[in-house]
Amino acid sequence: MALSTMQTGFYISDDDTLENYDPEYVTQRIEMQRRAGRAAYTPAGAGLVAASSSVAANYPQLAAGPVGKQIHRIYQDRLRQFVDGGQYREQGLVGKLDEARVSGPEHVKLSVYSPPNLTRPTFADATAQTFRPAKVGESFGPSWSTHWFKVEIRLPQDFRNRERLEFVWDANNEGMIWTAQGDVVHGLTGGGERTQWRLTPKFRNGQWHVFYVEMACNGMFGNAPGGDSIQPPDPNRYFQLHTADIVAVNVQARALYFDFWEISDAAREFPGESWEAHEATQVANRIIDAFIAGGGSQDSIVEGRKIAKEYIGDVDTEKVYDSDKEAIVFGIGYCHIDTCWLWPFAETKRKVARSWSSQCDLMERYPELRFCCTQAQQFKWLEQNYPQIFDRVKSHVKLGNFQPIGGSWVEHDTNLPNGESLIRQFLYGQRYFESRFGERCRTFWLPDTFGYSTQLPQVCRLAGMTRFLTQKLSWNNINNFPHTTFNWVALDNSQVICHMPPSETYTAEANFGDVRRSVSQHKSLDQDKTSLLVFGKGDGGGGPTYQHLEKLRRCRGISDKTGMLPRLKLGDSADDFFDRLEKRVENGTELVTWYGELYFELHRGTYTTQANNKRNNRKAEIMLRDIEYLATLVTIKKDFSAKSSYKYPKKDIDDMWENVLLCQFHDCLPGSSIEMCYDDSDAIYEKVFVTGERLLSNALAELGFDDKPKADSKLAALNTLPWTRTEIVELPPLAGLPKYGLAHGAGLSTMEVRQLASPYPASIASVKEIRPNVFELRNSQFIVEVTDGAITSLYDINVQRNIIPEGKKAAQLVLYDDKPLYWQAWDVEVYHLASRTELLPHKVSISEDTPHRVSLKIETKISDQSSITTTLSLSAAVGASLSAVEIAASIDWHETMKFLKVEFPVDIVNTEASYETQFGIVRRPTHYNTSWDMAKFEVCCHKWADLSEATYGVSILNDNKYGFAVAGNVMRLSLLRAPKAPDAHADMGRHETRYALFPHAGPLDERTVRKAFEFNNPLRIVGHKTRDASSSSAAPSSAPSPGLLSTFRILGAPNLVLDTIKRGEDDADVSRGEFPSRMGGKSIIVRIWDALGGKSKGVLSWGELAVKSVKKVNALEDEVGEDLGGEMVCVGREGEGERGVRVRVRAFEVVTLKLVLED
Ligand SMILES: [Zn+2]
Repeated sequence: MALSTMQTGFYISDDDTLENYDPEYVTQRIEMQRRAGRAAYTPAGAGLVAASSSVAANYPQLAAGPVGKQIHRIYQDRLRQFVDGGQYREQGLVGKLDEARVSGPEHVKLSVYSPPNLTRPTFADATAQTFRPAKVGESFGPSWSTHWFKVEIRLPQDFRNRERLEFVWDANNEGMIWTAQGDVVHGLTGGGERTQWRLTPKFRNGQWHVFYVEMACNGMFGNAPGGDSIQPPDPNRYFQLHTADIVAVNVQARALYFDFWEISDAAREFPGESWEAHEATQVANRIIDAFIAGGGSQDSIVEGRKIAKEYIGDVDTEKVYDSDKEAIVFGIGYCHIDTCWLWPFAETKRKVARSWSSQCDLMERYPELRFCCTQAQQFKWLEQNYPQIFDRVKSHVKLGNFQPIGGSWVEHDTNLPNGESLIRQFLYGQRYFESRFGERCRTFWLPDTFGYSTQLPQVCRLAGMTRFLTQKLSWNNINNFPHTTFNWVALDNSQVICHMPPSETYTAEANFGDVRRSVSQHKSLDQDKTSLLVFGKGDGGGGPTYQHLEKLRRCRGISDKTGMLPRLKLGDSADDFFDRLEKRVENGTELVTWYGELYFELHRGTYTTQANNKRNNRKAEIMLRDIEYLATLVTIKKDFSAKSSYKYPKKDIDDMWENVLLCQFHDCLPGSSIEMCYDDSDAIYEKVFVTGERLLSNALAELGFDDKPKADSKLAALNTLPWTRTEIVELPPLAGLPKYGLAHGAGLSTMEVRQLASPYPASIASVKEIRPNVFELRNSQFIVEVTDGAITSLYDINVQRNIIPEGKKAAQLVLYDDKPLYWQAWDVEVYHLASRTELLPHKVSISEDTPHRVSLKIETKISDQSSITTTLSLSAAVGASLSAVEIAASIDWHETMKFLKVEFPVDIVNTEASYETQFGIVRRPTHYNTSWDMAKFEVCCHKWADLSEATYGVSILNDNKYGFAVAGNVMRLSLLRAPKAPDAHADMGRHETRYALFPHAGPLDERTVRKAFEFNNPLRIVGHKTRDASSSSAAPSSAPSPGLLSTFRILGAPNLVLDTIKRGEDDADVSRGEFPSRMGGKSIIVRIWDALGGKSKGVLSWGELAVKSVKKVNALEDEVGEDLGGEMVCVGREGEGERGVRVRVRAFEVVTLKLVLED
């Protein structure tokens, strides 16, 4: 028998077999020794020999009396009594936690200033006001109001030598403690959550001391009435200030409280058959017995702590983590502050200040605490509004215990933002972190976002990050995600290590069970046993509490002293954890892989809820692309010189981007916030668009265009997409102009606007009512039959194929009942599909009948309150350019818990449909074979979704929607929802949206990609003043800088999208000074990606620009890889001077190039 008894507990050493081990025997022996008052433990390595050598000298012959077997459950249940706040409170430990407590004006004097109109004044403004006397018991409100308290305290004589003193404040709402000098020192949560502030020695001098409490009339989770926090806020909540006390803490009693908590958790949560559980029950009962025997005296408390030590060891300092035993769970403090949610952005700014000041205070007392913090935006707010806390944070960042993480501007949604937005989240985030703290983040941290787009691993790698942490998939309501630690692989094969903490939370309360679950729920133990435990209260809770840290010290103590509990360590960073993982992979650990999106099987309504916000996001993304492209052109054009006052509008562009990125926060863009947040985001977008229009106008003016053409302007259509377009365009309402013109032109450029006539062959469009209520729309490509407002036949003339199945109706509006299990704004549940109701129009009429374009107006009542008018149009087919049936919908929406969709049954068979996602395509099942397929009954798309066979396909385009489903051969675009929580008025009112049915002979290819871009980027009609008197508006116009406007294009690879064109961040004429500016030549950043999934070679042409060098860069614009100078080629005819560079792109790869221009 080779059992070791070590000072830290009993265990079988690794090299022993279990055969000779009889735990019960050992336990009995130990218990006997203990009762005999002997030293229970022998030194490490002494073995059982030492224990068995002490033979009982005189074993009593006669029994002393009966000894009963404990009824385990009773002795276990009894444990709650000791720390219960209920009927036994004063008889148990809770009654001993304070040595003494005082309140009232003799020691705590209160006065208050209540700012008017829900304003949130600064410290200086507030403290300059007149304060009126206030007292405990008064109530303050209404919801969202602020109240500044001047607090004057003087300690009673007998408090001055007490070990630990705290100021306790509780009004069930959030608050912040300021010194009289205006420094924030601590946050308060209320409701018993975070109510103490430890008083420093200076308070012990017997004098009156002044500080302030800034009270915010909202709870941690806003102001929901009753107990259901997602209900819309009650505007009239009042909060009673019920505690403003000075407390002398009984330090030993408090410590015993935590000892007892963890030991009794061990008694309850260790397996019932384990000796460790029985031992815990015995130790805890002995603590109670000792307390009773000592009449609850201080001595009995100290005695209780001694008994506790037998199970948990010495846990009074951070040194508990110093033992060199191998830890496998790594605790990281975190405070998940939703940038807006059940409160507005303005409150978040204060939540950040409260939470982070509390953390700075806590880490000064608990050196083992490592606190990681995301969202550059929150750091920036702190820097702007609370510079003193920001400095304190900065000094802790330097010390290494406050750790910026995540690298993104906010913890954003990843379903809805476009690819460029995902990149900008990191460009702006990483640049902020690097400029303020000297380092970039290496771990993308996104625990709470509602699903993870398939290209994120690639974007992470492009932004300097090799690891990713999330947690949300543990909320899946259908399938259990099978991995904890794995390699997550993007569409282009890029990978990151992904870890999902097995405790399945990012706001752990640091309980015994969280530590236990770190192994018991770990799903990747075959590869690696380590994990992260992310603990700390989120939102208003302010992150880790001292309670968390006390509990965790004891968890570590239990692992070392008794065993069984996974060994936890604090003091490492999340990066340390991932560093070790990467090292193990390097040394041969083979992680399981997961290819493609991390689809979240919940919150599927967030692709649709808050439609306006989503529309604004799409519009802003498109506008920003145009602005950066045009501003770049201005600053590189040949005649651009010092005499122009135009400067690349970097600050305005940055402000626009930061605002757009902010609104992509994971409760904002998805639509899960309260109404106040959308009032805010509406105002933010409004500002973005006003700035954007100004920037566009300015750039266009510099390029010689007039954004608002006048009667004498020559017209041109501005194409900002890098391919040839031929389109019917609507002309500005100017005298003498027809309603429509034909625009045609190659590549990024201006296009001529001419009448619908030769030299470009075009067929005219026509419409007629062929039978009562049956209309036929035609051009040279399609014959569309519309019956009762729906498309009953769509005949492709070229291939002689009807796309609509016999008897089916496309573009049919359908309404569903929409009551998810709980999370209204978030969820749509699978059973809603059974409530499908077709909406039939009450009037269909021909609204437009011109050779250019024909339209039907379809008027439909949804209910007595709501209606929809759709305009279904077909334009003349121009040349080889493919037509689409376009539908513009104007909706007046006042429903309750309904879901409006439009469906398109098509005569196509495929088990997979394709959806545009960031930088590529995601394919998802059209069937419900398995529960994983079934779970995807509602999914996210971007500008298009497509169902194709090898020979034919149909794409559905949209200009501001994101929710989609394909079930069998029915394609269904989600239009509007009507949840009533947390925003009681979500989506009520008017909406404008456009969608189109785009049939195409042959499989899905670049035609769909381009058509969807075009649908979202209508040609902009501009004028210019260089009107030649001899030319008419119908003649081709020459743009002022034709060469410049068509500078950039891609040749030889139609699957490649030439997307972003912008100036280098740190060019001398662009830089805002966060980083040393790059001297010598201007640079242009060009982003290219493969939209279809095919490795390709193309040539990026830059016309006649004088490009000195071409370098491959990452998303952060760092040079990576070699100079591409050797790939530079002449394009077009010899001697014309057009040059470019060969680019090689992997399937679905995003390539960013930096073109450095000659000085
Ligand atoms: Zn969140």
